[in-house]
This record gives sequence, structure tokens and C-alpha cells, in this order.
Amino acid sequence: MNLAFKNRYLALGEGFYEQCKPTPVAEPGLITFNHELGAELGLSVQGLDEHFLAAVFSGNVIHEACEPLAMAYAGHQFGHFNPQLGDGRAIYLGELDLADGGALDIQLKGSGRTRYSRNGDGRAALGPVLREYLLSEAMHQLHVPTTRALAAVTTGEQVARERLLPGGVITRAASSFIRVGSFQYFSMQGDTPSVKALADYVIERNYPEVRDADNPCLALFESVVLRQASLIAQWMQLGFIHGVMNTDNMSIAGETIDYGPCAFMDFYSHHQVYSSIDRQGRYAYSNQPNMGVWNLSRLAEALLPLLAEDADTAVSLATEILERYITHYEQQWLSGFRAKCGLTAIAAVKPEEDKMLLESLLEIMAENQADFTLTFYTLSQLTAEPNDKDAALRELFAQPEAIDDWLVRWRQRLSFETMTDSKRQACMQSVNPVYIPRNHQIEAVIRAAEDHNDFGPFHALHEVLQNPFQYQQGKDHYMLPPAPDEVVLQTFCGT
Ligand code: AMP
Ligand code: MG
Repeated sequence: MNLAFKNRYLALGEGFYEQCKPTPVAEPGLITFNHELGAELGLSVQGLDEHFLAAVFSGNVIHEACEPLAMAYAGHQFGHFNPQLGDGRAIYLGELDLADGGALDIQLKGSGRTRYSRNGDGRAALGPVLREYLLSEAMHQLHVPTTRALAAVTTGEQVARERLLPGGVITRAASSFIRVGSFQYFSMQGDTPSVKALADYVIERNYPEVRDADNPCLALFESVVLRQASLIAQWMQLGFIHGVMNTDNMSIAGETIDYGPCAFMDFYSHHQVYSSIDRQGRYAYSNQPNMGVWNLSRLAEALLPLLAEDADTAVSLATEILERYITHYEQQWLSGFRAKCGLTAIAAVKPEEDKMLLESLLEIMAENQADFTLTFYTLSQLTAEPNDKDAALRELFAQPEAIDDWLVRWRQRLSFETMTDSKRQACMQSVNPVYIPRNHQIEAVIRAAEDHNDFGPFHALHEVLQNPFQYQQGKDHYMLPPAPDEVVLQTFCGT
């Protein structure tokens, strides 16, 4: 296996990281290796012993070309600034080239203490490792930009959380592990040269298209803002709640990162919160777009000295771009939800009218505890003319008649479209998943692994989520919302 890591981050200098090695674990065991991603990274594990792979992906064996490090960053956590965070339980191994150009950064998470561990043990429990593996890979298959999971291992050690739990290590891959908080770290120290060095690094690695812009840092900021707006619009379209959108958990590359207490909604609720630590609902479903722009405003503050020589000019340039976040988000929201309902932008219908139609669907879903994913999936089966198939949609609503008027309005709106039923259904099915990683299923996977050392449910759920838009024979129970005794009310970050 050719783990020829490059490490261009190292050249940024000592203030950006601590060079450190993973702390070996007692008895690593391979849970899974992501062959699809491995192939993209040119990693062939054919013929390699599982023990060797477990040793590599636990950090027990480090490739000789690898110069591992833990990155420094700061961050606003639930609105409060913490100047000193950093990789407290993650270690960056370096970059691997992608077969079709570009590179991904590779990191072990759960690999031991670093300078940034504060009071933490530097470890991860097995449950959150399995969660992150399933959720991040599901997000990828759902076409949402995300960090990926390359491997997961058990450690043969226990970690002390609210009780003793088995430990794990996940190997993650990302376009970048640099966060909004990475810029804040230097900005708060008044270290503009380091902010500039970081911006240049990010441009080189992730936004080469802005390199030749008149004002590259401004162009970088604009690109980051637009990517983030699109990302959050995609979350909203899948009922995804990140749960801990602190500035240290917002990737500069516009990827979903740090799968802690995140969750996909079952029944639709505008203000849904799952995270046990989000007591004020700061990161509730409906608040995510606002929190996105809040975080990006913190990024703007960090970048201000790079945007213009004169502070007022810098502020007005940044403000203009932040305003574009809002319009871009709204456009993405509208086009995404239109597509979910089989609608396209047409001249005869004002965007505000479509917005009202779509919002009223969500309203009715909320009033009737309709399952978010099943509602859109079932809507994708309906025809332009009412028929007995409507029953399947109606029964998702606590009061089935509550959706009748809306269906009439939807069909009136459909009459402006030119697509045939089957074409429209195919389009809708390509954006409305059948399967999402539901909380109760993740919980069942974790219980089996933790309590019975049984990884069968993990592999089975992972396989279903590899094709989330495809109905799979015999997998109906993966479509279903939780039974009353399976409902997960709270999710935990497990740190
Ligand atoms: P998170 O909530 O995972 O985004 O983590 C917030 C901060 O706490 C980051 O700096 C992490 O590296 C650090 N952290 C979380 N869990 C641990 C742990 N078990 N040991 C050391 N540091 C941790
Ligand atoms: Mg984090």
C-alpha cells in the first residue's frame, strides 16, 4: 500500500501546529476499510493482512514518509470565543493524491493526546466513530460535500466517558481540515502575516481559480461564502441538523465536517434540535442558515486586514459578500425544494409563489408529524392526475385530509410543467432519498457493536446507504421512522 504522504502544511511553520505522533493502542482491530475511496486515492489493500491495516489505521504503524501533526485553531463555541482549541484528538498524516487530480488530506481521529487536548484523553469512543463513518459516507452518496471515512478500527482499549466504553479510531479524508476557527486563531493574536499565509495556502490547495483575481483574498472569501450557502441549503433539503456549527466545525472548503451530535430528522419540525449540548436551540434546523452567516461574519472579521488597506473599505467589501450569502442561500433553497417537488423555474410562476407553495407543504408536514424523507419520497411516486396512489402520501399525515388542498395546488402548479409523469418522477427520485441514516438505526448499530461486539448491523446499514436513492428489495425496514420505543430524542457528541 503506497501511503506516500505529502505534507505542504508543514511549510507554514511551527506556529500552525505541533508535530506529534499518534499514541499506539493496545490491540487494533479493523472494522472496515473504504475500498471505493481507497481506489480513488490509489491505495490498493489487495492481499494485505487485516492486522497490518488495523495497525496502519490506528496509528500504531506510521509510514516513514509521514510527518504527522496536530493543527492549531480557535473557535466560537455556542457563541463564546475560545482562543485555544486545535486538534485535541486528531492527527493529520498529510495529503494523498487523488487518481483524477487534486489531493485529499488524511487524518486519524481518536489517535491520542496532543498539545491541544486540554483535559481530554485524545481518544474517541467506538460509537461516535461508527456514527461518523455511516453519516459521512451517507452524505457523500447523497451528493452533499463532506469529509469522507477511509477506515475505522477498534483499539482494544476502553475510554472513560459517562461510563467505560470501547475505543475506536476513524481515518477521515477531506479537501481541507482548515476551519473558520483556524483563521480566527491567528487573527485574534493580531498575526496578520499568518492569516495571509493561511489564506494563500487555502487558495493554492482548494481555490486555485481565485489565484489570479484582482483581490484574491476577497475572491476567496466570496467563494467560501457561496459554497457554505449551498452546503447549508443542501442540509435543509435533506432534513439534516449538524448540531454543533461552531466556527471550529466549519470547513473552509465548504464540506460538512465534524459529525458529532448531528442527526437527520424523522418527522418534520421546523425548530428541531437533537444535540444534548444545544440547550438554547442555537443550531436548530431552522437556525442553520443564520448560523452559517454568523460564522462567515467571524471569518470576514479575521480576513479584514487582507481585503483592503483601509478598514472601512474592507468592511463594506465583506458586507456586500455576506449579503450575497443570503440571496444565494435563498436561490439554492428554492431550486432544491422545487426539484424535490418536481417543479422547475418557469416564467409563468413567480418565485415567491413557489416559495409559498413549498413552505406551506412544510407547514402541513409539521402540523401533522409527517416524516420528512418519506413525504418527499412518496410525493415522487405520484402522478399529475389524482389516483389511488395518493393514499400512500395521505397516510403519512396525522390527519390525511390535511394534505388534500395542498395536493390540489401542487397539481395546478404541475400543469405549467412540460415533463411527463415518468420523467418528473425519475427527476424527483434522484433528489429525494429512500434511505437516510436514521437516528434509531444508528443507535441500533452502536448498541450491537458496543454491547455484543457485533458489526453485522453496521455493515448492513452501510450497504443500504451506499445507494440512498434506489429502492432496495427486502430493505423496507430501513425506510421506516422509529417505532415509539425506538425514538431517539437526544444525540451526544461523545467527546
Ligand atoms: P468537537 O466538539 O469534536 O468539535 O471538539 C471541540 C474541541 O475539543 C476540539 O479542539 C477537539 O480536538 C477537542 N476534543 C474533543 N474531544 C476530545 C478528547 N476526547 N480529547 C481531547 N480533545 C478533545
Ligand atoms: Mg470539532
